[in-house]
Amino acid sequence: MASPKSLITSHAEYTPHNILVTGGAGFIGCNYVRYMLATYPDVRIINLDLLTYAGSMDNLKDLPDKVNAGNGREGALGYESRHTFVQGDICDRALIDSLLREHQIDTIVHFAAESHVDNSISGPEVFVKTNVLGTFTLLESTRQYWLNELGGKRQGEGGHLPHSSPLTPDTSFRFHHISTDEVYGTLSDTDPAFSETTAYAPNSPYSASKAGSDHLVRAYFHTYGMPVTTTNCSNNYGPYQHSEKLIPTIIRNCVNNSPIPVYGDGSNIRDWLYVEDHCSGIDAVIRKGTPGEVYNIGGINEWSNINIVRHICGLMDEYMTDVRRETEDGKPDTSHSDLISFVTDRPGHDWRYAIDASKMDQELNWGPAETFETGIRKTVEWYLKRR
Ligand code: NAD
Repeated sequence: MASPKSLITSHAEYTPHNILVTGGAGFIGCNYVRYMLATYPDVRIINLDLLTYAGSMDNLKDLPDKVNAGNGREGALGYESRHTFVQGDICDRALIDSLLREHQIDTIVHFAAESHVDNSISGPEVFVKTNVLGTFTLLESTRQYWLNELGGKRQGEGGHLPHSSPLTPDTSFRFHHISTDEVYGTLSDTDPAFSETTAYAPNSPYSASKAGSDHLVRAYFHTYGMPVTTTNCSNNYGPYQHSEKLIPTIIRNCVNNSPIPVYGDGSNIRDWLYVEDHCSGIDAVIRKGTPGEVYNIGGINEWSNINIVRHICGLMDEYMTDVRRETEDGKPDTSHSDLISFVTDRPGHDWRYAIDASKMDQELNWGPAETFETGIRKTVEWYLKRR
């Protein structure tokens, strides 16, 4: 998926101002919105989200979005919000056309997707609609806006130059696409981690639909010269994740004293990254990355599912001492890990994912700020406070 470097003449660091975030009421999107508003006082965000079952306005409560507009009081002349929420569909072309123009968008950060593998197995159609057609609609609307309103073009003219033509470094616009490591398929225990040049081999309807969207994004760079970047990230964990996903399920079931379902024998391996580190990685790519390039983001943090469950159960033992009794030798008589219940494996369950994030490190000087130990502790504490 990486584009040849020789096509790029040079590029300057890019500064986003008016950002259209899609899917910003979902898990990673709302963390990104929070991260950007808290980190950059000048950023304004238009948040387009359909509010499917996976999105929630609760995720957008108490945003760090206020800017002092004059007299220090809330209201028209006081504090204004730098965040505007729009409920709508990324497949709605007219809506996207108008949002881009009305808010003079210079940066698109595209999270909106159907994201749960299990749902893609029972009902794949909406995955193709949202992830492939939705991304296409967004790209096509953006292309017209970029060409007509921002004067976007390849060097020399706006048409279809041969692929050997150098691209004009575009400092006025970015389209950033969020993708997943699942597009690369599965690894054996001894395979090297996925790099940006690993061939695509998606195995689930979810990963196939994400792969389709990645290819479209790539094509808009190569065909039209649109300044796009893509990141493929490993499994995220952290605050605001939907309750259907593994880590919130483990914590909830520990709290409720319910069985914790683990697929197969729990030996499948995933590479986990704290969500705020994903957000800082996306920001680094948008600011310092090269248009047309792909960057893999990961925590270099492989865990088997069963070890993740056991680790979180150990933390829950620590935090929820009230549910356990101590034996005479001072050790607890039960552990939350007693709740582990092995269930029939997911069909086509990928064995192992692992990300080689060395390009992020070497080219963009990015690395995760959290270790798994610090990130998972913050996460457990956040869910326990919120219940
Ligand atoms: P999520 O399911 O929590 O959130 C998706 C959001 O998109 C929801 O708010 C939903 O309402 C919105 N949405 C869905 N269809 C829409 C449509 N047609 N129009 C507008 N909004 C729509 O997902 P997430 O876990 O936050 O993932 C965000 C992105 O990151 C996805 O593209 C996913 O593929 C990618 N990703 C996720 C992970 C992970 O571990 N969660 C890892 C790598 C990449």
